[in-house]
Amino acid sequence: MKLSIQEIQAKSILTKSNLPVGDYSANPYTGCTHACKYCYAEFMKRFTNHTEPWGTFLDVKHWNEIKHPEKYNGKAIFIGSVTDPYNPQEETYRRTRALLEQLSGTTAKISIATKSDLVLRDLDLIKTFPDIRISWSVNTLDEDFHRDMDNAVSIARRFAAMETCHKEGIRTSCFISPIFPGITEVKEIIQRAKGCCNWIWLENLNLRGRYKKVIMDYIEEKYPDLLPLYEEIYKHRNRSYWLALDKDLRAFADRLGLEYATNDDSMERDYDAPPVIVNYFYHEQIKKSARKDAMSAADEQPTPSVAKRIGDNDA
Ligand code: SF4
Repeated sequence: MKLSIQEIQAKSILTKSNLPVGDYSANPYTGCTHACKYCYAEFMKRFTNHTEPWGTFLDVKHWNEIKHPEKYNGKAIFIGSVTDPYNPQEETYRRTRALLEQLSGTTAKISIATKSDLVLRDLDLIKTFPDIRISWSVNTLDEDFHRDMDNAVSIARRFAAMETCHKEGIRTSCFISPIFPGITEVKEIIQRAKGCCNWIWLENLNLRGRYKKVIMDYIEEKYPDLLPLYEEIYKHRNRSYWLALDKDLRAFADRLGLEYATNDDSMERDYDAPPVIVNYFYHEQIKKSARKDAMSAADEQPTPSVAKRIGDNDA
């Protein structure tokens, strides 16, 4: 895959956020080389003058050092709302690490969302924050399906990273997202994750925009038996699959002795308590806020003349 990378000067790195999980959001990159087939963040292209296919470009942000980090004491900061802050290029550019270094010493409540185990590189720094959590997106245990869907590291590596962090005393979350009807093995993932995380978040697959056709074509080709179900859900907007899954998972959680909630993001639980399962099916507020949030992040983009193209790379 041809990958285009440029370093840019952003006006700032922290953006006031409408997300329920953050007072501020931070995206040290624009674009994301994990290139998930279902990525909703693709709409960022419209706000950043990118015409390349999603997943084939990355803007590496530089910003003026945060002058008064103490003003973020107690504030919730969500890192990675429209990119993966630990995409493979972070190994070279270290912009997420730079952000953490600049916030170091504060009592900011940091949430990091990733599909990578590169985050382990920064454990020393991460452990210095009194209130920090890391979530890994996992929507299958089938490595073939994962490879069809994204370029991120294997599911096994994501779980290994989750386990390491959890053992180190860092709060972790397994984000089962997006749940593909008839494909995502939700119960097996819950069983796999329950010993190494504090939360298990559930989110349904939404299809809209360009990637709706991409996913429907994929289902038709690889899972033709499921096509009628996908048409029912995504063409006829029938929600009964999700209502039934919600009911089934609630009963499953009960059997496992796990709490099942629809709105619980508390950081106050005992660290050693079993994880709480939080269902975000059709959590419209989050989606609308994420979109608004991304649009304000796009406001940080410099004009193209400021951006410095440093060359094309093959990934
Ligand atoms: S990791 Fe997240 S931001 Fe990156 S391509 Fe996948 S869904 Fe999009």
